[in-house]
Amino acid sequence: MSDPFVHVIDHPLVQHKLTLMRRKDASTTSFRTLLNELAMLMAYEVTRDMPTQDIEIETPLETMTAKVIDGKKLALVSILRAGTGILDGFLSVVPGARVGHIGLYRDPTTLQAVEYYFKMPKEMPERDAIVVDPMLATGHSAIAAITRLKALKPRSIKFVCLLTCPEGVKALRDAHPDVQIFTAAIDRQLNSHGYILPGLGDAGDRIFGTQ
Ligand code: URA
Repeated sequence: MSDPFVHVIDHPLVQHKLTLMRRKDASTTSFRTLLNELAMLMAYEVTRDMPTQDIEIETPLETMTAKVIDGKKLALVSILRAGTGILDGFLSVVPGARVGHIGLYRDPTTLQAVEYYFKMPKEMPERDAIVVDPMLATGHSAIAAITRLKALKPRSIKFVCLLTCPEGVKALRDAHPDVQIFTAAIDRQLNSHGYILPGLGDAGDRIFGTQ
């Protein structure tokens, strides 16, 4: 049964770029460039229902009422460090968005998320939040980040990743059933080290060339 809170963005351009990123011989430069392009394409879908307002403008020929978005009402929340890769692409499309950061690392033994940094824009109750992290694997980081964020009562929360797996989707849906998930693909499964299969490896390492 399809879940209306889980959106797989299956646009051919998104799928093509994702395939190029998955290849183990993709260079750091091309991985980063592709992630940026992919994030811009995904932003288009994720912001589809963004509120607009009417303003009066003058074209060279006459006055008209036209629509604009209020980018300042949007808070993009990047889960450090890999979220930065998606954040950049989103900011190219919505440059007025405010940005928050949550620093979490995965304890390699327990795979639990441990927080080391948290900084959000002011006035979160007036903002729609979009949390970004390329991989929704065990779901621990996403769940912890969204739990922290909810304490600030943003108007709404969406979660955007590049790749996920059934285990990650279930964990996040169970913990935060009100949060919509946007992804380019739902892969087969999680392995015992918390990596997505077939996946694309460690997203942070591949973005920053630290593998
Ligand atoms: N984080 C990654 O970077 N890759 C995975 O496959 C899972 C979590």
